[in-house]
Amino acid sequence: MSRHADPIEAMERFLARTAPYDAPAGSPTTTVELRSGRLRGRFELTDRQVAALAEALDAWHDPDDAGRCGQCHGRLGRDLSCRECGHLDGIFGATVAQHAARIAGHTD
Ligand SMILES: [Zn+2]
Repeated sequence: MSRHADPIEAMERFLARTAPYDAPAGSPTTTVELRSGRLRGRFELTDRQVAALAEALDAWHDPDDAGRCGQCHGRLGRDLSCRECGHLDGIFGATVAQHAARIAGHTD
């Protein structure tokens, strides 16, 4: 989870990062209002800042989203095991399966 959970402060930091590249500054075209508890933030964004915000939101990836199971298309956990069928997916799953096969075929 982000170390900065305050969305108003996050928006302020985001706009401070985008502002230097919006020169000459465009006219605000979009208003974003945020309420977090008792705090409120109202931000006027230029077209360039709107595009940057949309791109940032689209690029966001949930850290708990490990993808879909190759067997049943269920959701994978962080350990790449399927929550639906228990299949181990990805390189980790393939490595575990190969190791298990080696052990099963090993004869002393
Ligand atoms: Zn599955």
